[in-house]
Amino acid sequence: MASKKILTKKSLDFFEKYLNNAAPTGYEWEGQKLWMDYLKPYVDTFITDTYGSAVGVINPDAKYKVVIEGHSDEISWYVNYITDNGLLYVIRNGGSDHQIAPSKWVNIHTKKGFVKGVFGWPAIHTRKGASEKPPKLDNIFVDIGAKDKEEVEKMGVHVGCVITYPDEFQILNKNKFVCRAIDNRAGGFMIAEVARLLHENKKKLPFGLYITNAVQEEIGLRGAEMITQTIKPDVAIVTDVCHDTTTPMIEKKTQGHTEIGAGPVISYAPAVQNKLRERIIETAEAKKIPFQRMAASRSTGTDTDAFAYSNGGVASALISLPLRYMHTTVETVHRDDVENVIRLIYETLLNIKDGETFSYFD
Ligand SMILES: [Zn+2]
Repeated sequence: MASKKILTKKSLDFFEKYLNNAAPTGYEWEGQKLWMDYLKPYVDTFITDTYGSAVGVINPDAKYKVVIEGHSDEISWYVNYITDNGLLYVIRNGGSDHQIAPSKWVNIHTKKGFVKGVFGWPAIHTRKGASEKPPKLDNIFVDIGAKDKEEVEKMGVHVGCVITYPDEFQILNKNKFVCRAIDNRAGGFMIAEVARLLHENKKKLPFGLYITNAVQEEIGLRGAEMITQTIKPDVAIVTDVCHDTTTPMIEKKTQGHTEIGAGPVISYAPAVQNKLRERIIETAEAKKIPFQRMAASRSTGTDTDAFAYSNGGVASALISLPLRYMHTTVETVHRDDVENVIRLIYETLLNIKDGETFSYFD
């Protein structure tokens, strides 16, 4: 199937809808519902947990369990302080980038729905050249058009409301997908596509497959930490995004060289189980799926770590989708990489046998 296109009109329509829906960290459930609706025809049952992680399960009675995982949350802001003249100061909910905030529109999530706002910024005319201040957490602010704090409160905005960007899915030059929150809506999308392909190609797996969309990755892998204890998997193949390091001002000597369009990125790190990773590489080579390599010092910083270091150790590996401009509103990935990550996870699953331990000592 290496030559066949994977993404269909229907799957891309879902990807667009799923991306355009805001699912800030801690508030993922509407996105999870969209995702479960799409996944439903391809799985036997679902597991959900108290904090909103969702898992589609194929062969729920099987003893041996394999997870494929992405995370469902997106970075956002919290309203932290409201000034007397009605401006909002924010704190991060995940790694939101202060440098890109000025001049952006925002949606403030309230009980009554979205309230629109803008990140204001002093005009160029009013700033002094040499002493110009860059945007920082303590000087960026949101203006919702209110004259004072009282009006802010009347509009339903209070401390603790979350704020997301409204930017929606677009395609750049035919094959680049651009949106906020491709980190990691793409992950949830790709694992759902794996389930669709298994179903459409009538593949029967000899183990239980747990298609897992975890919450709260952006603030420290928390959703994965919870759901791995519920599932107690034997194997976890995680997918997240990694950096394209070929755009300006990124130092390859420290960041390595990975780029969009050159294939899935396979990680080397202590949390990555070597035999499982070699199985993925052998699969890529056998199926002629292009791939790149990346090394991580200490932790991978992805849900891979949460799965690996749980339940006495779970054989885990990481397949990443290279992405430009992470944590901005114009995150960019290549369509071919999206298809090749799907392909690589799919083909790897077909190469895992029931009961495999991946032990170094067998
Ligand atoms: Zn992220």
